[in-house]
Amino acid sequence: METKIRKIDKNQIDETVIREAGDILKAGGLVAFPTETVYGLGADALKEEAALKTYAAKGRPSDNPLIVHIAEYEDLKKIAVNIPAETDILAAHFWPGPLTMIFEKSAAVPYGTTGGLDTVAVRMPSDPVARELIRAAGGFVSAPSANTSGRPSPTTAEHVAEDLDGKIDMILDGGAVDIGLESTILDMTVTPPMILRPGAITAEMFEELIGEVSVDETLLGDESKKAPKAPGMKYRHYAPRAKLLIVEGDLREEILAIRQLAYAAHREGRRIGVIATAETLPFYKYGVIKNIGTRENEKTIARSLYRVLREFDEEDVETIYSESFAVQGMGKAIMNRLEKAAGHLRISAAAVVKQQRYRRITFVSRTDSARAPMAAEILRQYELKQEYVVDSRGLVVLFPEPANQKAEAIMKSARMTLGDHVSRQFGEENLQEDTLILTIDENQKNKILSEYGTGYNVYTLNEFVGDSTEIPDPYGQPLTAYGECFEVLRGLVKKLAEKLDSLVEEGL
Ligand code: AMP
Ligand code: MG
Repeated sequence: METKIRKIDKNQIDETVIREAGDILKAGGLVAFPTETVYGLGADALKEEAALKTYAAKGRPSDNPLIVHIAEYEDLKKIAVNIPAETDILAAHFWPGPLTMIFEKSAAVPYGTTGGLDTVAVRMPSDPVARELIRAAGGFVSAPSANTSGRPSPTTAEHVAEDLDGKIDMILDGGAVDIGLESTILDMTVTPPMILRPGAITAEMFEELIGEVSVDETLLGDESKKAPKAPGMKYRHYAPRAKLLIVEGDLREEILAIRQLAYAAHREGRRIGVIATAETLPFYKYGVIKNIGTRENEKTIARSLYRVLREFDEEDVETIYSESFAVQGMGKAIMNRLEKAAGHLRISAAAVVKQQRYRRITFVSRTDSARAPMAAEILRQYELKQEYVVDSRGLVVLFPEPANQKAEAIMKSARMTLGDHVSRQFGEENLQEDTLILTIDENQKNKILSEYGTGYNVYTLNEFVGDSTEIPDPYGQPLTAYGECFEVLRGLVKKLAEKLDSLVEEGL
């Protein structure tokens, strides 16, 4: 089948396109269209055969019910019976919008649409394209997410085409959606009403209006233990091709754990992905790192989640590690989708984070312009058993300066560079518990000890590696002196690398 793709602008809706799409739906065909949550795969909700086609196109199990989309509130009465009184209040506040409510179904709704259930899920979307299409199709459009069953839901028309091109009649391309996660589902057939799927409208928002609501306790739990009340929620959903693991702990621990996992994978030549946020992005170095949004505004995370999961499919990674998110407000919906995408695979950050004696190695010279930055750059060439932040400082740095030109010339001849180096003053902030301070000579060590006291990890480089070779000071001398200094540093740093790895082996 050829899938027609029609662009449509929600601010200036082309009626002929809507009519064409509406006619396809009336004739029992399938049209994907934008809504404010995700793209939906529309079919005539009152036709049994249309529902069957929907299941076939999505490859979706037919016991997974569809949501019926309406454009006028009065239409609810045609498809639902025994509608409880609170419905008016909820509809007045949240319709049109990202809320689906479940009612007892009327005889007008075929069992094909409800997956064999006597209840029907109903939503009134706010996207103008969706509403015009529903009207043009006769008022009742069933629309599950327009993706292949199990894949991340589509938030752009391109995502729809990736999954359904050639399987449906038409795609209305209205650009990227606004919310990015499916609607909140509230079961109105029980008292108090129960949230079956978290979304942009939260329990707190319901409770302000109608008092207590309950939450299906299987939502964030392990699905093997108990069947969720919303049938579709039992399947692994939204899944990228790679294995997805959610790393849980406090954020600092999560970052450390992901860094260690990514570093280990890098050493073993495995390609992995990292789901990071704007705030944590700078902490990661290895693997395919994707920014999913900012923690300051969870809406940005909701909007990018499915796109990021899909993008990983193109990256050919074997495992994706994700940070976790607060389970409040929109965060609840985000974690619910992420957990489903992960098939509930989580790991505790605390269990992963190895107690590492040193995480940072800081070389200290007088001016941080030649010897300390050279030593740091030589050490960075080693693939050590653990990852360290390696840097350098000077005891007398009057203002930031690039590296000494002769030092740089020597480094270049050894295929390294100090091109990015800027000298920095040593200070108390460098004396952390997890930092190994290695000075170039005895003077610098003594100066630090007399200024800041003992109790820190301060050694001369040759003392730490157990080699008494002095590091010469080439300052003001010809290039050859820098060359000799480099050779001494190279020998000592090689021993340092061995010593660091042996500490790891001893579990220190
Ligand atoms: P989707 O259309 O892809 O967002 O999926 C619709 C989801 O709504 C299904 O997977 C179910 O979890 C839920 N749903 C639809 N109808 C019912 C119903 N009658 N009772 C309970 N859950 C429903
Ligand atoms: Mg879906």
